[in-house]
Amino acid sequence: MKRVAIIGGGISGLSAAYALEEKRRTGVEVEYVLYEASPRFGGVLVTEHVDGCLIEAGPDSFLTEKPWASDLCRKLGFGDQLIGSNDADRKTYIVVRGKLIEMPDGLMFMVPTKLAPTLLSPLFSAQTKLRMAQEWFHPPHQAKGDETVAAFVERHYGPEMVDRLADPLLSGVYGGEASQLSVRAVLPRFAEMEAKYGSLGRALLAARAAMASSAKGQPRPLFTSLKDGMQQMVDALVGVLDATLLNPGVVVQAVSPEAGGWVVSAGLQSDQFDALIVALPTHAAARLLQRSGPELASELAGIDYSSSVTVALGFDKQVRASLPPGFGFLVPRSEGKRMLAATFVHNKFPHRAPDDRAIVRCFLGGARGEQMLALPEDEILRIVREELDQILHLKAEPLFARVFKWKGAMAQYGVGHLERLQRIEALRQKLPGLALAGNGYSGIGVPDCVRSGSSAVETTLHALGLVATATPLTSS
Ligand SMILES: Cc1cc2nc3c(=O)[nH]c(=O)nc-3n(C[C@H](O)[C@H](O)[C@H](O)COP(=O)(O)OP(=O)(O)OC[C@H]3O[C@@H](n4cnc5c(N)ncnc54)[C@H](O)[C@@H]3O)c2cc1C
Repeated sequence: MKRVAIIGGGISGLSAAYALEEKRRTGVEVEYVLYEASPRFGGVLVTEHVDGCLIEAGPDSFLTEKPWASDLCRKLGFGDQLIGSNDADRKTYIVVRGKLIEMPDGLMFMVPTKLAPTLLSPLFSAQTKLRMAQEWFHPPHQAKGDETVAAFVERHYGPEMVDRLADPLLSGVYGGEASQLSVRAVLPRFAEMEAKYGSLGRALLAARAAMASSAKGQPRPLFTSLKDGMQQMVDALVGVLDATLLNPGVVVQAVSPEAGGWVVSAGLQSDQFDALIVALPTHAAARLLQRSGPELASELAGIDYSSSVTVALGFDKQVRASLPPGFGFLVPRSEGKRMLAATFVHNKFPHRAPDDRAIVRCFLGGARGEQMLALPEDEILRIVREELDQILHLKAEPLFARVFKWKGAMAQYGVGHLERLQRIEALRQKLPGLALAGNGYSGIGVPDCVRSGSSAVETTLHALGLVATATPLTSS
């Protein structure tokens, strides 16, 4: 019987454990032990129920077009619990000079695919609108190397598009900045489209036409979640794993390669394994692997992470009636606010709030606000309420407020990230039996993390001679 240690019981490590459990149940001679520092599993996936409302402390949903999380839920037998975002009400606003301006129809990420609504929108200046029209005629362009998202977007649409859309959208997803993130790692499809079509607008129209001709039935919602919150995935995963193999509340302090396998040390206990899956943020993985693979550790430590704070506020039905329709708003850096974005949860996922409640979920921190984490909760609440008043004229006292702090939780894929992944993969192969999973590599979203866990298991089984195929970390 081969033994595999999994370190980290967030969604990446749980997905790895599930993939091993599946193999075990089909007769593969393997067992696993899952170590999780916290007394609860799930990492940043945490759902709370407050005053009849469902509050997500971390992720609230995932992109429908990435299938791995939904597929996992179906395999776990609760596909009927998957829900879509209420796209009939999908409107997003950008704060411009303190006021909410609706994103024009036809914008896909920051790319206009319908010229008329974009040209009529007050979101952009005449100069940016002219750039958008000119972009339509850009010839195919093969960029020489990687560049920041800001440089890429600016080449296509000018600096205002970076400030008003690219940067706030990336803050919402990565807690990151367009001026730091790699276009090849974060928007690989856009880099490919530029090479093939030149104009991103024309490329997206072509992609949409191709999708429409192959699509069957109803259009899919942009976001998918679970009826009872993201925690449902965690509970279901923990429920199917063998409880005797789970070690919550155990911090792994050291790992070392020994006798063709790995020794994992936690507290006074050490245990011998044939293989090791490190499913941690890369800064934590780097600390563990410092002694056994200093070069690998240094590459892992080179991947930046940002911290974030989410604040959920519950309000009564008067406030609900006064809030704008739509999913919420994004705040460009040029507005000088601490808040990056806010979601009107009662509109995005209506059943998460009773009819007489509104939930406003605010995001702070990210690459531009690391200091938010150090502030006490009452100060964070004061800032959020002050800015909600400035943006929405929302003065009402919330019925409840919850503040969640996530330190170093969001990986930032900087310029050169893909080349770094290749170096990491080469260095990992020098440490037999080691596999890596998590959000620091090939995708930060929940579906990517699910996929990273199962890919790490394929790599591990291959290394142990238990299956014929391996999935390298860099594949996407
Ligand atoms: C506020 C926020 C909002 C987000 N929103 C979305 C969203 O809407 N949609 C989306 O798709 N994605 C979203 N993400 C991203 C996504 O949720 C994460 O990338 C993903 O959940 C990370 O999972 P993970 O298992 O790799 O890491 P984590 O969840 O960080 O889990 C790592 C685990 O390892 C444990 N650990 C650390 N060190 C040790 C040790 N030495 N020994 C044992 N255990 C250890 C930790 O306790 C932790 O539980 C969001 C992230 C955050 C923070």
